[in-house]
Amino acid sequence: MNRVYNFSPGPACLPLKVLEKAAGEMTNYNNSGMSVMEMSHRSKIYEEIIAETQSCLREVMGIPDNYKVLFLQGGASLQFAAVPMNLMNNSGKADYVITGQFSKAAFDEAVKYGGAKIIASSKDENFTYIPEITPDIITPDADYLHICENNTIFGTRFNKLPEVINNIPLVADVSSCILSQPMDVSKYGLMYAGAQKNMGPSGLTVVIVRDDLIGKARESTPKVIDYKIQSENDSMINTPPCYSVYIAQLVFKWLRDDIGGLENMRKINIEKANILYDFIDNSELFKNPVKKEFRSIMNVTFVTGDKDTDAKFIKEAAGAGLVTLGGHRLVGGMRASIYNAMPTDGVKALVEFMKKFESENK
Ligand SMILES: *Cc1c(COP(=O)(O)O)cnc(C)c1O
Repeated sequence: MNRVYNFSPGPACLPLKVLEKAAGEMTNYNNSGMSVMEMSHRSKIYEEIIAETQSCLREVMGIPDNYKVLFLQGGASLQFAAVPMNLMNNSGKADYVITGQFSKAAFDEAVKYGGAKIIASSKDENFTYIPEITPDIITPDADYLHICENNTIFGTRFNKLPEVINNIPLVADVSSCILSQPMDVSKYGLMYAGAQKNMGPSGLTVVIVRDDLIGKARESTPKVIDYKIQSENDSMINTPPCYSVYIAQLVFKWLRDDIGGLENMRKINIEKANILYDFIDNSELFKNPVKKEFRSIMNVTFVTGDKDTDAKFIKEAAGAGLVTLGGHRLVGGMRASIYNAMPTDGVKALVEFMKKFESENK
């Protein structure tokens, strides 16, 4: 069977070149006589793999030297708890902006550990916009301010970062937007992302954290999510997600060598998103509910307004090799996730199919 265009929100499609490279090395990596999956994480050859993965990510993102990169497990969801356990330990307060399901889940974990407070929310309009964060709503002595930068389910994104006050560290869940465009890492205290949207297979969680925020974890923090212990042990206090780290390295090299870096990636992503949004905006059948200035360039939601027509669309699209277009169970409708690895041709094929479907279902 031919490969399909897979619009899955995650785990998501990977660059074909990466998969083929991994396939070629599957049973014998670099003359080691074994698969990366079979290697001891304490072996020299694996230590080189994890070190090179980190240096590739640092290079591609331009991560400053005063930030540590950690390769952890447990997904973004474990960071919902790891962040307060590690950081909410001075005033014991933290501010949360609720822009969808994942930021609410992060808040729900944080309340277990201290004074987490919702300072803004877009729930009133079903998360179709990003609320304004003005300095007066920020808790002056908060240990951090948490946002979810791209909202995978609702298809919104922060088009600018909130201005924090009193040097409060900005903490961002960037699971579904990391590497989609250049980011000024120095504006964040900490960012975290599950790998399975834009970096590789699930099982790997990347945490990028400023040095001065390390070493504040409360006593009860498990070692595997204690940023100090993990950074002192090169993310290997226990077995890391070895194979996912290796695939992520191939993805970082693909971004660097084939795409030519994040500025190029951004141009491609904006072009892809524009193709889709322009069509939707001119369509009589499909609509996108998000306020234009907050539209995600990674997750594009759309509806016909009729449940049966939505279901018919998803089914027929799958028949045409355009798969995983169903919206999240919370919102229904459709969602096309067009992460880095989705080629422009995939988006064009989707738009062609939408045109045809629209003409047949007037
Ligand atoms: C997918 C996703 C999550 C959940 O990630 P897990 O790795 O499954 O825990 C959290 N936040 C955002 C923004 C996501 O897109």
